Amino acid sequence: MSKLGSLYIVPTPIGNLQDITLRALDVLREVSAIGCEDTRHSRVLLQHFNIDKPTFALHDHNESAQITKVIQRLENGESIALISDAGTPLISDPGYGLVHACRLAQHSVIALPGPCAAITALSASGLPTDQFIFRGFLPVKQQAKQQVISELNQTYCTSIFYESPRRVLNTMKVIKSELNPEILMVLAKELTKTFEHYVSGTSQHIIDWLEATPVHQKGEFVLMVGPAAQSKSEISPEAQSLFTQLQTYLPPKKAAGIVAEHYGLKKNAVYQWSLEQGQTD
Ligand code: SAM
Repeated sequence: MSKLGSLYIVPTPIGNLQDITLRALDVLREVSAIGCEDTRHSRVLLQHFNIDKPTFALHDHNESAQITKVIQRLENGESIALISDAGTPLISDPGYGLVHACRLAQHSVIALPGPCAAITALSASGLPTDQFIFRGFLPVKQQAKQQVISELNQTYCTSIFYESPRRVLNTMKVIKSELNPEILMVLAKELTKTFEHYVSGTSQHIIDWLEATPVHQKGEFVLMVGPAAQSKSEISPEAQSLFTQLQTYLPPKKAAGIVAEHYGLKKNAVYQWSLEQGQTD
């Protein structure tokens, strides 16, 4: 049952129509109207599920004008759903302004869980998932793109990007020129669709795969770049204490090697940590 006077954020499939949730269908059937990023695009989805509701366009170019109208309807006790062309609205998609305004006006905003390319890709990537940064689309301008990418050399968690087929090869080449060549990354393509594919390895490996045939560069992509270095927080207080004791008797590199082996860490990360702490000369 949809609650009167509420704005519903409703994720839709990113390829496979079976990924719509039962609750999403219920809400779309019950609300007074559905705000769409592109009404023509969403009509296909709504028709597929036999949903016949008034729709209106809400995208980056008309959002401020639509906010007033939506808030007025919520005040009148109507409930409204917001969908985007695919996936979760607001995630690299329109809707932020509307949700922000609804919260300010103290209207209830109810988000449904559902498809999102970033989370789908991350969960199957094999890269660390305990911490991650979602960066959306990279800047189009080359210098700004290089800047964002070079910062990944200092990032201690997985970074997730959306990428277009027109730019994916160029992005991988910038990554190759800016990042440590050993960093592990995963390119996820056409998630939930017939030609879903994951390529993982170094930047060079992914470039080789993209260049193998032009078909490889077509479709929708999520690019995930693994952590560049071991996080300082992963060097536990116990490991730090053992290093301090050992380095009284042993050269720092040897001490780092023993600590790394004992606690399952990378020797370089322990040694690097000790340098940063001023524990070694
Ligand atoms: N709101 C959407 C979501 O929740 O994932 C993302 C919208 S954003 C405008 C579109 C981008 O998401 C695409 O350019 C691509 O990078 C990524 N994407 C969307 N669907 C995808 C899919 N099926 N496979 C891979 N990437 C996808």
